Amino acid sequence: MELYSKHIQNLIDQLNRLPGVGAKSAQRLAFHIVNMPQEEVMNLAAAINDAKANVHYCKECFTLTDSDLCPICADEKRDHSVIMVVEQTRDMAAYEKTGKFEGVYHVLHGAISPMLGIGPADIKLKELMLRLEKEDVKEVIVATNSSLEGETTAMYISRLIKPSGIKVTRIASGVPVGGDLEYIDEVTLLRALEGRTEL
Ligand code: ZN
Repeated sequence: MELYSKHIQNLIDQLNRLPGVGAKSAQRLAFHIVNMPQEEVMNLAAAINDAKANVHYCKECFTLTDSDLCPICADEKRDHSVIMVVEQTRDMAAYEKTGKFEGVYHVLHGAISPMLGIGPADIKLKELMLRLEKEDVKEVIVATNSSLEGETTAMYISRLIKPSGIKVTRIASGVPVGGDLEYIDEVTLLRALEGRTEL
């Protein structure tokens, strides 16, 4: 006997596929959604569709944005000769919240992980190298997470860029090991940025 209607089971299954949503949360959310007023459900569905249809990668830094160039890359007051490399758009948002970084970013959308079969070609690394070729860049700050994957990626980037003569630095290890950048407070982030060392 099926416990739930196949419609609600389908909704639970779809929600359960999202990162961080376990079976119990998926159930709770599914029941919440079916109990919501029709209009709110329509708004939620429309917001999902709308975001998917209109958000794409910035052609410079590959963050998620509504236009060709994100507001940071389009800002001429930012220092375009300093590029901070982060794993995800949310890491970039964390640094932006500090309001102290005046350079620009490059979003890799992942990190190298031999264990998960994620290689250099699976993240936006080639795009970073192309950017370094056509722009006048003085420093690349590698701000990947301090997890094994983040460190592996940092080493790889350093080896790739070093021959070009561009300075490569790594944020200080004040960031807890394995800690996702988005959960770290602004003071810690600033300290990590200020204490960066050359790779
Ligand atoms: Zn951008």
